[in-house]
Amino acid sequence: MSKTKKFLLPESEIPTQWYNIVADMPNKPLPLIHPGTKQPLKLEELLPIFSEGVAKQELNSTDQWIEIPEEVREKYKIYRPSPLVRAYNLEKELDTPAHIYFKNESVSPVGSHKLNSALAQAYYCKKEGITNITTETGAGQWGTALAFAAKAFGLELAVYMVKVSFRQKPYRRSLMQTWGAEVIASPSMSTKVGRKIITENPTYQGSLGTAISEAIELALQTPNCRYTLGSVLNHVSLHQTVIGLEAEKQMEMAGEYPDVIIGCFGGGSNFSGLAFPFMRHSIKNGDKTRYLAAEPSSCPKLTRGVFQYDFGDEAGYTPLIPMYTLGHSFSPANIHAGGLRYHGAGSIVSQLMQDKLMEAVDIPQLESFEAGITFARTEGIVPAPESAHAIAAAIREANKAKEEGVKKTILFNLSGHGFVDMTAYDSYFDGDLRNFDLSSEEIAKTTASLEKII
Ligand SMILES: *Cc1c(COP(=O)(O)O)cnc(C)c1O
Repeated sequence: MSKTKKFLLPESEIPTQWYNIVADMPNKPLPLIHPGTKQPLKLEELLPIFSEGVAKQELNSTDQWIEIPEEVREKYKIYRPSPLVRAYNLEKELDTPAHIYFKNESVSPVGSHKLNSALAQAYYCKKEGITNITTETGAGQWGTALAFAAKAFGLELAVYMVKVSFRQKPYRRSLMQTWGAEVIASPSMSTKVGRKIITENPTYQGSLGTAISEAIELALQTPNCRYTLGSVLNHVSLHQTVIGLEAEKQMEMAGEYPDVIIGCFGGGSNFSGLAFPFMRHSIKNGDKTRYLAAEPSSCPKLTRGVFQYDFGDEAGYTPLIPMYTLGHSFSPANIHAGGLRYHGAGSIVSQLMQDKLMEAVDIPQLESFEAGITFARTEGIVPAPESAHAIAAAIREANKAKEEGVKKTILFNLSGHGFVDMTAYDSYFDGDLRNFDLSSEEIAKTTASLEKII
């Protein structure tokens, strides 16, 4: 009998609502607070920076379900529903009794899950009469997704791209330009903050912190302009729940239910998007499904960080967020090529960690590349180096199932493909990458300066 490999849903099954897990959480996440007053952030304080649509979603702790606008569902049709795939070839290679499934978000035109939120954020801006949006991008995936989303809804987009990435990742830049975005190497002469930095240090290669402050400055200075963010915040995780809502139906088609659900973890959006819709059942029924976030050993905020209020950015411009963090001044070692470099985790995931509703593992760099290559050679898709962390965690679970001789159903998120990240694979093949042991002293150093608010 031939076996079904891909579980496909018709367009009519694109979810009509996003799932807001905050409404169901036994303990709500602590609020974002204003760094000056230390008071919970109010809607009015978010409105100069974000669209009203997402600002309201950010603070919504009561509505379980939030309507997906028809215009957004229409754009989702370009690539959604995404396939759920049974990784038979990987199972065979591992000789495991485990059944391994992955949700393939790499089929989006930008190559990652980030478009799920980019389209929603662009839509709300358009609807509210905003004409221009800004953002920053480091590795380039968020900027790429937003470039297409801005074009889809007729907005002008300016992306501040960290200068060193602007030079080292020319294809991300060309993708953004192809979709019509203006890409500016940061620091730039187009903002006060950028001009000051360039004047003081003309050869500065930029940082995410600088790029964020340039993007926010432009948003605040330009009429009808707002800023957008691609991870960490609650509304971004909310938009990503289309992944898990589809996967739930597709697992039903496959006649199985996952024992363990895995996502790689940068700021938390793709993990949350897959996990939260399933977790609503665990919260209600107390079932034994495990939720596993896979982070790099060189940036281990969930496994080794502290739970404390911290800034979302290096420079300290954002509100204070209650998060598992390595400290906003933390920066992973230079030898780290696998992405997921962000210092903290979003407030929802951080509370779920506190309440032991989910777990985390850290994956050494070489193990993640080995897993990515094994996946490419069995299932054919070259994964994004970020996604390879989820694959590595799935392989560990499959090997455990083999040792224990038990059948286990594993579901992981393939958050993106790696076609624009081949320089990272090159570094691996050239032997330029190694594992990096982050010392506890180092973590203590970057977390020590955090004010003890919790
Ligand atoms: C941005 C990105 C990530 C990490 O971000 P999360 O918000 O943690 O999902 C992971 N995988 C891919 C492909 C990405 O582009």
